[in-house]
Amino acid sequence: MMRQYELVERVKRYNPSTDEALLNRAYVYAMMAHGNQKRASGDLFFGHPLEVAAILTDLKLDDATIAAAVLHDTVEDTQATLEEINKAFGPQIGALVDGLTKIKRLDLVSKQAAQGENFRKLLLAIADDVRVLLVKLADRLHNMRTLQFMPPEKRKRIAEETLDIYAPLAGRMGIQEMREELEELAFQNLDAEAYEAISRHLREVTAKSEKLVEEIERDLTAKLKAQGIQAMVTGRQKRPYSIWRKMERKSVSFEQLSDIFGFRVIVGTVDECYRALGVVHTSWPMVPGRYKDYISTPKQNDYKSIHTTVIGPGSQRVELQIRTIAMDEVAEYGIAAHALYKEGVNDNSRLATESRAYQWLRRTIDLLAEGDTPEEFLEHTKLELFHDQVFCFTPKGRLIALPRGATPIDFAYAVHTDVGNTAVGCKINGRMAPLLTELQNGDEVEIVRAAGQTPPAAWESLVVTGKARASIRRATRAAVRQQYTGLGRQILERAFERAHRTFSDEKLKGALPRLARISIEDVLAAVGRGEMFSGDVVRAVYPDYKEERRGVGGDGAVQSEKKSSTPAKEFGEQGANAIPIRGLNADMPVRFAPEGGAVPGDRIVGILTPGEGVTIYPIQSPSLAAFDNEPDRWIDVRWDVEPDDPQRFPARIKLQSINEPGSLAQITQVIADHDGNIDNVAMKRRTQDFTDVTIDLAVWDLKHLNAIIAELRTKPVVSRVDRVNG
Ligand code: MN
Repeated sequence: MMRQYELVERVKRYNPSTDEALLNRAYVYAMMAHGNQKRASGDLFFGHPLEVAAILTDLKLDDATIAAAVLHDTVEDTQATLEEINKAFGPQIGALVDGLTKIKRLDLVSKQAAQGENFRKLLLAIADDVRVLLVKLADRLHNMRTLQFMPPEKRKRIAEETLDIYAPLAGRMGIQEMREELEELAFQNLDAEAYEAISRHLREVTAKSEKLVEEIERDLTAKLKAQGIQAMVTGRQKRPYSIWRKMERKSVSFEQLSDIFGFRVIVGTVDECYRALGVVHTSWPMVPGRYKDYISTPKQNDYKSIHTTVIGPGSQRVELQIRTIAMDEVAEYGIAAHALYKEGVNDNSRLATESRAYQWLRRTIDLLAEGDTPEEFLEHTKLELFHDQVFCFTPKGRLIALPRGATPIDFAYAVHTDVGNTAVGCKINGRMAPLLTELQNGDEVEIVRAAGQTPPAAWESLVVTGKARASIRRATRAAVRQQYTGLGRQILERAFERAHRTFSDEKLKGALPRLARISIEDVLAAVGRGEMFSGDVVRAVYPDYKEERRGVGGDGAVQSEKKSSTPAKEFGEQGANAIPIRGLNADMPVRFAPEGGAVPGDRIVGILTPGEGVTIYPIQSPSLAAFDNEPDRWIDVRWDVEPDDPQRFPARIKLQSINEPGSLAQITQVIADHDGNIDNVAMKRRTQDFTDVTIDLAVWDLKHLNAIIAELRTKPVVSRVDRVNG
């Protein structure tokens, strides 16, 4: 195990002014905290954080990162707490350890391989500081190096996750060395056979062509020198994973795979890069389509280099990368290298070509120009990436990306429209929570559903995702249509009954062409909305049906004096065939006449209004006269109030009161004594002695209303009381 002074020595090599005391304290603290804990290999656990720190010293990172690496597993795996760390090492290191602890907890959630990109984003969103990711990558690298001690199932899962998430993340951050090692280790664990086969082939080729690599190195160095270019040329074989991937991608065998050698030409300046390229292309024929200039157009992760492939000695295809020393540092160490090199800072043309998602790297480079020391640079490299998004999990581990401010309702619709439509509650991280809670990164959300639900229309303005909004609108519309369809069916069933004809969907289907509708549903909805009259439907189904005025439902008697009777008279008795009306919350598009509506106990009638459904009037309402000539619009309805769940209905009364002090108070007192609600009072002085008072009440039923009226009549200040039927 690495000793205390060894760790300090490693850091001192690249940072002579390191805070030795800090590193020593971190070392001792973590050693005490982990105590005798062992790893799967049987080694002391404490060796692991030290190795992680060592990997980061290779990237020449600052003291805070190294200390955080030493401490990274203490909060999650030992008795140590974040408060203790904050106190002992300050808030900066505390924040780093906190970030690492949060990410470690995410590891406990099962993940689906296809979610790699989203998971990477989640990591970036959770890690506020780029150093958290650097430590996490080093942690994963050391775990991969020691993976052989894990049981096979776990090994496979960790290796897959490394390929899906961590290796690409290292690549995105520009740490190619680490990306390659992660890939090789993962490949080795996932497909040991393929890994062995390719490695064996590579060893054979190496044995044959060892001289070739040396030859090309020497030859190229000499040719460049002749043109006055000082260059460092190094050749190497590609690694098994990159060869395997190329074989997969191009579906070729190892024998067919020609370019397994890569050479790197490192020069002093950008100008020399292009001159070196000229030397290469004039010495050997280039392979068309393989030339790429990442110096004029760098990759998103700020990678710069010239790539080309030539047919070298022995007809062996050779891949070349040409770049400066600084570019090489960036290629090897990525974002970490920016702490040490300040090259290519102000290149505006690049901004345009960068994808929006990875602009943070651009920003970190900008910050580099402002910060003076490596420490300052890293400290300011806050990841603002994906801060406009939150990432949550389903209980099965599916990752759902949502805009910030999203609620569990948005989440439900993102999972599936049906889940959203039937959502009635939710659990966040195992606890019941309101559906309007703002979701946080890493939340596990379980939607509680109930069949046959319709989302409340009010949700539409509360959700933040377009998908949820559109789905809610569609579902509410469908629900309204369903209500009209239901009402239409009830109206038709009763109309056919009164006509003594049988009603069935099949018969209706046969009449669709005569009704000029495409579906039964269309007819039902049209009748419910009042756009089509039930009599027309009866005549369409039974063309021989002779027009008869409808009678009182139930007894089947056709009234002989129908011509002279007004509809209001016919509807005097409410038979069992009438459509039941539940009240204001009816699941039908039914509403009450706006002024002086009906209350339970009143005999009622419904009037169909096209596009609006049914309006309920008390049978004595004078407004009904307006519909006398439109008998098709009259609907037979009856009350169906639930005694267990009473509700109030609006009613209007008009009083004549004697003008004397306190008369209004007496009136309202009567109403209050009888448990009546007053919705509105309007007063108009008629003469010196009398005032007209119109009161809108909310009452339980007709009996309730009559009791109030009767009591008011007993008051001396009231000369007259009448109910108003609008
Ligand atoms: Mn660890």
